[in-house]
Amino acid sequence: MTSPSNFDLHSPVHLVPSIGMQRAHLFERLGIRRAIDLLFHFPRTYQESSECQSILELKEGLLATVVGTIVDMDSRFSLEGRSSVGALLAVDGGGYVRCVWYNQPFRRENHSIGQRLLARGVIRSSGVAYQMRHPEVTVLEPGESPPPPRPRPVYPLTEGLSQRQVSWAIESILPLALDIEEALPSDLRSKAALLMKLDADLLPTIQDALLWIHQPKDMPEAQVARARFIFQELFVLQLALAMYRYACRHAAPAPSIPTNALIHSRILKRFPFDLTDDQKQVIETIRLDMASTIPMNRLLQGDVGTGKTAVAQYALLSAVANQYQAALMAPTELLARQHATKLKQQLADSRVMIELLVGSIPQAQKREILQRIAIGTVDIVVGTQALLSEHVEFAKLGVIVIDEQHRFGVEQRATLRTARTVPHYLVMTATPIPRTLALTLFGDLDVSTLKQRPPGQSVVKTYVVQPSQHQRWWNFVIKQIQTGRQAYVVVPRVDANDETETQGAVQWFETLRTGPLKELRVELLHGKMESESKQTILDQFANGEIDILVATTVIEVGIDVPNTSVMTIIDADRLGLAQLHQLRGRVGRGSYPGFVGLFPTQSKTIDPANKPNSNTTTASDSDPQSEEIQRLESFAKIHDGFELSQIDLRKRGPGDILGTKQTGLPEFIIADLARDEDVVMIAKEMAAELVEYDPTLTRPEHAKLLRQVVAKHGKSIAIGDVG
Ligand code: ADP
Ligand code: MG
Repeated sequence: MTSPSNFDLHSPVHLVPSIGMQRAHLFERLGIRRAIDLLFHFPRTYQESSECQSILELKEGLLATVVGTIVDMDSRFSLEGRSSVGALLAVDGGGYVRCVWYNQPFRRENHSIGQRLLARGVIRSSGVAYQMRHPEVTVLEPGESPPPPRPRPVYPLTEGLSQRQVSWAIESILPLALDIEEALPSDLRSKAALLMKLDADLLPTIQDALLWIHQPKDMPEAQVARARFIFQELFVLQLALAMYRYACRHAAPAPSIPTNALIHSRILKRFPFDLTDDQKQVIETIRLDMASTIPMNRLLQGDVGTGKTAVAQYALLSAVANQYQAALMAPTELLARQHATKLKQQLADSRVMIELLVGSIPQAQKREILQRIAIGTVDIVVGTQALLSEHVEFAKLGVIVIDEQHRFGVEQRATLRTARTVPHYLVMTATPIPRTLALTLFGDLDVSTLKQRPPGQSVVKTYVVQPSQHQRWWNFVIKQIQTGRQAYVVVPRVDANDETETQGAVQWFETLRTGPLKELRVELLHGKMESESKQTILDQFANGEIDILVATTVIEVGIDVPNTSVMTIIDADRLGLAQLHQLRGRVGRGSYPGFVGLFPTQSKTIDPANKPNSNTTTASDSDPQSEEIQRLESFAKIHDGFELSQIDLRKRGPGDILGTKQTGLPEFIIADLARDEDVVMIAKEMAAELVEYDPTLTRPEHAKLLRQVVAKHGKSIAIGDVG
């Protein structure tokens, strides 16, 4: 056996005596590699162990607590020199339990006949009486009633490891918690406690918090310990973001792009409508941002249809009016084309030079465009993100606008800033992101929101369509087409999936065009098709040469065909609400009312991978399918994207809202963005204040904090590495 002196907190976990070589790999599966990781393997929850058991409730193997009086003591030595001390306990209410300790001769001195004990241990039935080996005991004063039960930690486990094994391992190294250095100076801990309205003057020290989270004497103690770690986790992240933000703002200046009254009114005249109040307000903010030499870093979020494009155009045109170039990036070639076409139409009678830069443009032509961008004769470049973030050299870039940003990590955004010039920067997204998530992902950005919708848009009527109603629904779709409209049918996957017994877009396309919709012009579109044929289909659809487009969720992003009025979403319950909402935004964009029919999945099997929160929600015994239908029913009633994404965040976790695994969202050990909204706000506020005072965290009292920020987030957030 390893003696405790040859290991410390940084020793590999197999050196922890109660773990050893054989079990080490199981702990590694839980992310526990070094001893210190055990200390930060926090309980999932606590069990408030029941009151004392009576003799009748005891049985072999039960972890039990009894109270009684010692009526007999014995001690023995075996031939091998092993000692044992026994104490026979007359349990209150009747019956006996024998406590026994091996190789702990001091027990003989600690206990005596007549003493009252509270004993806790695993019950063994030794034939005649119950026994507890090495119970935890508390000596009670005569007349003293037993203390209230302590909460027992319940740890996350992995197959092959028991609750006891994990508890033991943690218990055995808990004394080492005293060696851990405090990262949060006491003034920060007291401020946080105050803002978090805790029933304490300070957040506990790291040492106390570790002891309390693993072995709380009562639930309030566990809660205050958890509060400390939740705060710390969120605070360290917000510090990283605040430092990054500070560095971006102070590294290199951006060009000052003032928009005087004349330019302002000339730009506004280009819009075929009056701006909404929200649009006006955001434009005013951007005007101030761009006039400053501190680079603008702004996120504009607005539900589909709230008119973000006009705001983008304002930013582009104010740069051009000041003799700067502007870039507009879209996530797909399709959207880039759409933007370029619209801009060209709108600016047809001006001298503004607009170029489209996408992958499918022939090499020679691309080279020529790049040259003109480099010498500055192109004013506005519209392209895909992939292309524009590569090696485009601008003569004088003033602003970059990114439309429909779907990947939000700071990392992804950082790559765009490596250009030599520091332009102003506007990111737009239609994915409604709950506030806590936005603060986490965009803590380094300023956020503006368009809430109001331009006049004339009506809500899209949404229905859940049961199998028995399918024929009626398709008849309705056909009627819409007959009045001159067009329609989408969205299928979450391209191909059939045997496991979930669901059909893909390919199969639905066949079924529909040979079945219910055979009189109509139906075409198929999905992400695996050649870029050229995709374009052809989309052009035909936009020109009204196709009635019905059967597509995967590729159409989710920004497609704008105002003549479409109906969308059918197959297996709709497989998608998150935010994504459904995004899709819904594709219809009813013109002057026609929009309709969406949601077809719930018909197969019995529900893909468990689609339920990322399954380990935190308790298994419910209600029918998962009817739960899914309820979710769709509530979606049909709610038309506010933010409300929907809030529900998504609670029910399905952040991955669903952001649509991908590469969300750029850090992993949290203990914080929960849906639950800890208040703490996120507090952490952000305190981080901003601290960075204002010590921008690089170089003051000695922040050294440990800086180390944590760098260790946790240094890779994804280039702290101190900007410009
Ligand atoms: P999104 O925010 O989804 O990008 P768009 O910018 O595409 O929204 O705008 C949606 C529709 O609303 C477009 O047809 C656009 O021309 C129109 N629109 C935008 N702003 C206004 C406004 N202030 N008044 C009337 N129509 C507007
Ligand atoms: Mg848009």
